[in-house]
Amino acid sequence: MIVRPAEKTPVRSLLIIVSDKQSTAKIVRGAIVISRELCKGCELCISFCPKKVISQSDKLNAAGYLSAVFSDNGQCTGCAICAIVCPEVAIEVYRE
Ligand code: SF4
Ligand code: SF4
Repeated sequence: MIVRPAEKTPVRSLLIIVSDKQSTAKIVRGAIVISRELCKGCELCISFCPKKVISQSDKLNAAGYLSAVFSDNGQCTGCAICAIVCPEVAIEVYRE
């Protein structure tokens, strides 16, 4: 089968469009703020965070709990799962 140059043009254009879409895809970044004093150290947010960016502090808060702490390493997506599962409403979620 003979392929003429004119028939190749649409395929090339399509490839360029796909490439442009990939380069402009927005990555959602998030961050959370955990209230150290509201936290009761139940660890639910630590267990449920899909990015594993929440851990337990090694210091007690005023009420005697080891509160959760956020490690902002750029992996948080702002999915808000941590805030949804927190029984103390101790987590605020922010998205870029
Ligand atoms: S918003 Fe999502 S990714 Fe970010 S800390 Fe909470 S559960 Fe983890
Ligand atoms: S879910 Fe809420 S109360 Fe439990 S450890 Fe996380 S911030 Fe603290």
